[in-house]
Amino acid sequence: MKRERPQTGGFVSLVGAGPGDPELLTLRALRIMQRADAVLYDHLISPDLLELVRSDAERLFVGKEQDNHTLPQEEINALMVRLAREGKRVVRLKGGDPFVFGRGGEEIEALAEEGIAFEVVPGVTAATGAAAYAGIPLTHRDYADSCVLVTGHLKNGAAPVDWRGLVRPRQTLVVYMGVSALAQICEHLIAAGLPASTPCALVEQATLPAQRVVEATLASLAEVAREAAVRPPALLIVGEVVRLRAKLAWFAAEAPAQRVTALP
Ligand code: SAH
Repeated sequence: MKRERPQTGGFVSLVGAGPGDPELLTLRALRIMQRADAVLYDHLISPDLLELVRSDAERLFVGKEQDNHTLPQEEINALMVRLAREGKRVVRLKGGDPFVFGRGGEEIEALAEEGIAFEVVPGVTAATGAAAYAGIPLTHRDYADSCVLVTGHLKNGAAPVDWRGLVRPRQTLVVYMGVSALAQICEHLIAAGLPASTPCALVEQATLPAQRVVEATLASLAEVAREAAVRPPALLIVGEVVRLRAKLAWFAAEAPAQRVTALP
């Protein structure tokens, strides 16, 4: 059953906008964007996506790139509360899915505490978007029975994750925010027991016309990615499923020259 929006008072929709290709928006996200009074968005939202927002809606860039926070989280929360109290239909537009490394939980916690009505609209997360557009099934009966999503944003270079728990057999590992600590991540995974020959793919700007995929082994990836100058946003996929890409890559925007493969 559909949840009805209250007739009076503001309302906040926390909306996942998907990984980049505007056609990956849900119908619900599009409908909400087209009747928004104010939209708060960050750096992962492409201009093509913003064009789909109601033309006279207020557009507020609130930034948030790693280590370059345009507005601190508390100010983003306070801004949403203020706009909602003004009676506006506020859309908080997030890249991917708002509940997957998006701090969406924190944002609606603040709304809940202030008694502001809200809803959450899921989006295609970078893991499934990148996997589909790179031709890498995240699970496969022959190669992987499980898939783990983890953040590679290592605070002060320390390892916040249980690396051993990540290196199970027949498990695909997907690392978000892993570009800046790539060399350390690969080293930790090898130290935790993953074979150095494990195939990996880094998918840069997944689902967008500029998508680029760098393939290498766990041992060589950091070097290959450095040479190819891979920049965020990029997603790391580690596991035997990466081999399927040789057969399954289909995304037409990806010209052969954009392919970098160092897999044996
Ligand atoms: N909520 C988002 C993730 C935000 S964290 C989601 O569900 O997808 C930001 C990280 O997501 C980036 O560092 C990158 O690892 C990944 N990411 C987001 N969009 C991406 C894209 N188009 N291509 C590759 N990686 C992407």
